[in-house]
Amino acid sequence: MGQYVAPLRDMQFVLHELLAVEGELKHLPKYEEIDADIINQVLEEGGKFTSQVLFPLNHSGDREGCHHDKTTHAVTTPKGFKEAYKQYVEAGWPALSCDPEFGGQGLPLVLNNSFYEMMNSANQAWTMYPGLSHGAYECIHEHGTQEQKDLYLPKLISGEWTGTMCLTEPHCGTDLGMLRSKAEPQADGSYMISGAKIFISAGEHDMVDNIVHLVLARLPGAPEGSKGISLFIVPKFLPNADGSVGARNPIFCGAIEEKMGIHGNSTCQMNMDGAKGWLIGGPNKGLNAMFVFMNAARLGVGMQGLGLTEIAYQNALVYAKDRIQMRSLSGVKAPDKPADPIIVHADVRRMLFTAKAYAEGARAFCSYVALQLDKELNHPDEEVRKECADEVALLTPVIKAFITDNAWTATSECMQVYGGHGFISEWGMEQYVRDSRINMIYEGTNTVQSLDLLGRKILGDNGAKLRKFGAKVQAFVEANGTNEAMSEFVTPLAELGDKVTKLTMEIGMKAFQNPDEVGAAAVPYLRVVGHLVYSYFFAQMAKIALEKQDSSDTFYKAKLATVRFYFARLYPETAMLIRQARSGSANLLSLEADLF
Ligand SMILES: Cc1cc2nc3c(=O)[nH]c(=O)nc-3n(C[C@H](O)[C@H](O)[C@H](O)COP(=O)(O)OP(=O)(O)OC[C@H]3O[C@@H](n4cnc5c(N)ncnc54)[C@H](O)[C@@H]3O)c2cc1C
Repeated sequence: MGQYVAPLRDMQFVLHELLAVEGELKHLPKYEEIDADIINQVLEEGGKFTSQVLFPLNHSGDREGCHHDKTTHAVTTPKGFKEAYKQYVEAGWPALSCDPEFGGQGLPLVLNNSFYEMMNSANQAWTMYPGLSHGAYECIHEHGTQEQKDLYLPKLISGEWTGTMCLTEPHCGTDLGMLRSKAEPQADGSYMISGAKIFISAGEHDMVDNIVHLVLARLPGAPEGSKGISLFIVPKFLPNADGSVGARNPIFCGAIEEKMGIHGNSTCQMNMDGAKGWLIGGPNKGLNAMFVFMNAARLGVGMQGLGLTEIAYQNALVYAKDRIQMRSLSGVKAPDKPADPIIVHADVRRMLFTAKAYAEGARAFCSYVALQLDKELNHPDEEVRKECADEVALLTPVIKAFITDNAWTATSECMQVYGGHGFISEWGMEQYVRDSRINMIYEGTNTVQSLDLLGRKILGDNGAKLRKFGAKVQAFVEANGTNEAMSEFVTPLAELGDKVTKLTMEIGMKAFQNPDEVGAAAVPYLRVVGHLVYSYFFAQMAKIALEKQDSSDTFYKAKLATVRFYFARLYPETAMLIRQARSGSANLLSLEADLF
């Protein structure tokens, strides 16, 4: 059933050679002790844990799925999931990047990020249990009262309890302003919460003693729409002051969903009938507080896309070297065999390169944003913190949508490498395709990400954040523009930078006349920005690879070939995307709905 080997060499290339993480972390007092050895050691241990403990459960977890007992409301996870979680907790992995004040290990997010890539490659469905806990940790850490932090953070950090995000209701997913769950204030300062939530990942399971639900609901008399939403901590078992679990809270799993992929993760309907909860983040400020969780989750979903792209690529590569079919068009390559390995065929290479380039572009991009997040949270200079926060805000929807769209393409191409065997369950490839599809939907659909990018993050501040990112691109272009060896990379990067500027202005002008122009352009626009980001990182990677291509380490030769493939075969879709984005809203909106 395939294999998973953590791509340590490429991770180390990104962290040490591309991003010079050790030097960057020296500017953050909290992390000044972190050096390359510590980083490499964690990566190696993470690689072992994920390939030896999580990966062997991926396929069996998919086949078995979760089970719900209608009488007890209990959910059982697939065989081995609980034991793997125990090992994860015992090894201290949940605490990796958490605050030492509450029991965390205090390592940087950029390192945690690489570990999450590995976990997602090895077993996305399993990884969602601790992944959501980490989001809950971040939300309570930022918005909780001291009492809430003292009670919940040590348990989430140790992994004894897990967390969830309960937003979606049957009638509202994207438009949370319509949600109906209610919260009635109680004399003791708590709230009594009632309502129905659907599609709650990890809402109920058997891996821990308690589950900390973060639930959106409305207070009595709250304003209509999204301005009237509050956030509550609703634990499955009410915690005692000493951290032990007390009475069962009436928040129950009514059913779990049958679904296309991520079968090992329970997707729960959660019913609350007077469940006890505590307000977090202030009355009617729920969406603001939840955004901490949602932003963490959006970056996390991007990492899911990267994880699946990588595992699909690795396995397709092994298969393509082993499977023999037909002869190479340019003559026999394996005379000792009755046919050549399919990796000799140009189009098989196109498919492999597509996945390889999308994985390596995403790895550079995600690691960069995680490092900017570390700086946003920890840099001593307020101005730097603000700059980093702006950049993270700009790039978060791009990470979520661009990487997961690409993962769908990449996993599908890797399945194609297997021919008919890709469609057959036993090889494992069809699971990656199925698992990857949800990543384009949850945490705000990719359409919603594109509206966030173009409408809120770019036009909403008259392009200020985009210009700052553009200035970085421009600085790289100017610094390398006279280097002839770099021109094959710098020229398309510079051209795309100019085109994005013009396209943004054009859409902005049209949107003054007609706001629908934003909705009509947003999806292709996000992909164009995604390519600008990848061009920027691939050009930087090319620079390093060019300098080292003659070294005995063949890694740089392969990196250069991947960058060249990217600019020759993936980047060119920007021309088509720009035409689509410029084509306006009329071709979409002029036909009345009932004439479709
Ligand atoms: C497996 C799974 C796990 C999930 N886990 C969780 C979880 O843990 N917690 C949680 O709260 N939720 C969770 N969700 C819910 C998920 O986040 C929502 O399904 C998602 O946000 C979309 O909402 P919806 O399904 O109601 O679709 P809708 O909001 O009804 O959208 C339908 C379509 O309309 C489009 N659309 C809507 N508004 C616009 C607009 N203004 N412009 C353009 N297009 C628009 C959407 O992009 C989509 O294509 C999960 C869902 C699934 C399937």
